[in-house]
Amino acid sequence: MEKVQSVRGTYDLFGDAKRKMKKVIATGEQVVEKYGFEEIETPIFEFTEVFARNLGDTSDIVTKEMYCFEDKGGESLTLRPEGTAGVVRAFVSNGMQQNLPVKFYYHGPMFRYERPQKGRQRQFTQFGVELLGVENPQADIEVISMAYEFLEKLGLNGQVTVEINSLGDAESRDAYREKLVAYLQEHFDELSQDSKNRLERNPLRILDSKEECDKAVVENAPRYADSLNEASQQFFADVLRGLDLLGIKYRVNDRLVRGLDYYSHTVFELTTDKLGAQGTVLAGGRYNGLVAQMGGGDVAGIGWACGVERLAMLIEENIALPRPIAVIPVGEDTQDKALQIAHQLRLAGFNVEQSYSGNMKKRLIKANKINAAYAVILGSDELANGSATLKNLDSGEQKNVSLDNLTEELK
Ligand code: ATP
Ligand code: MG
Repeated sequence: MEKVQSVRGTYDLFGDAKRKMKKVIATGEQVVEKYGFEEIETPIFEFTEVFARNLGDTSDIVTKEMYCFEDKGGESLTLRPEGTAGVVRAFVSNGMQQNLPVKFYYHGPMFRYERPQKGRQRQFTQFGVELLGVENPQADIEVISMAYEFLEKLGLNGQVTVEINSLGDAESRDAYREKLVAYLQEHFDELSQDSKNRLERNPLRILDSKEECDKAVVENAPRYADSLNEASQQFFADVLRGLDLLGIKYRVNDRLVRGLDYYSHTVFELTTDKLGAQGTVLAGGRYNGLVAQMGGGDVAGIGWACGVERLAMLIEENIALPRPIAVIPVGEDTQDKALQIAHQLRLAGFNVEQSYSGNMKKRLIKANKINAAYAVILGSDELANGSATLKNLDSGEQKNVSLDNLTEELK
């Protein structure tokens, strides 16, 4: 019979890989809760238009990567490829405009039909934040510093670069787009086929093309910074000044544009050179028009999301589980007492393993294998006078302790 397999690009998560992912999420939660962010959980699928309309109909996600399906009622639904559209949809559906700012974080599975490779899966996990209702650069500074602190707390100090750019407001963006298209048209023949296709619909995307021929053209393309109007320049300068004040090192990357339509002003990515081509671990930006686009009025927004699997791969040391205590009955007649003692110790907060079968020697070997710190050995003679043997499995030292003092001794 053929072996049953998971779908290409999906993985079963367990053991150390899962522990590392839990650590990434717990660290993220700890950091962002200090900034007043609260968890939101939105559905894993939405009406297709929530993504199709709001991510931009020329984005890679919408054109190539979405898992869309029709349900039995004939609705077109899509497994979420990212978190922002769903959170903003929830913000609008629940009428949260009355009480701004709103600060949410989320984590959970995302789905994109991509070519699977290291750090690129079809189901993956994101942890992200959204801050709605703050127009001024303080919000940008705060969310970037939060991202930075998060990665530092994961132990990635010195391994992460903050790349940042400004796309400016709508006026600046239109001005730049016009200049860029004019320039690219002059070099049309030198562009890759993909970029030729993008030229009309999504010229900004050509800036971060990975094709060598495109890179050569982009090298001399007009600079984004030269198209920012005064207000946009000021905004960007204020963001950078704030990062300076906090000692956050960044690199202004004039070619950073991000692939989605909803961004304006600040866009940023945190990258590492440890993961080869999949070096971007966290990415985000400001999306001032998105809430209005969903019919929620003029509410500014900014946020980021990180790939939890990619971050987990960067955690080098294995994550140790708390060491358990092994409770070992010697002989059938002490089994019931072992059950009770294990129960008592668990109620007192200890991790307890009862080896399920075997003689004492076998059970001790097992206790060492699961990295137990102590064994509580219950022989019938000792039990008869209310005591047991407590064995330190590191030193091999053992002593007789009264059952009444067992919890105290173990503490
Ligand atoms: P990339 O350029 O790598 O395709 P992206 O711009 O599509 O990234 P975002 O939509 O910004 O990625 O998602 C934020 C983060 O989520 C990424 O920086 C990455 O860490 C993670 N991520 C995105 N797509 C995948 C995937 N298919 N598998 C695993 N992680 C992913
Ligand atoms: Mg992508």
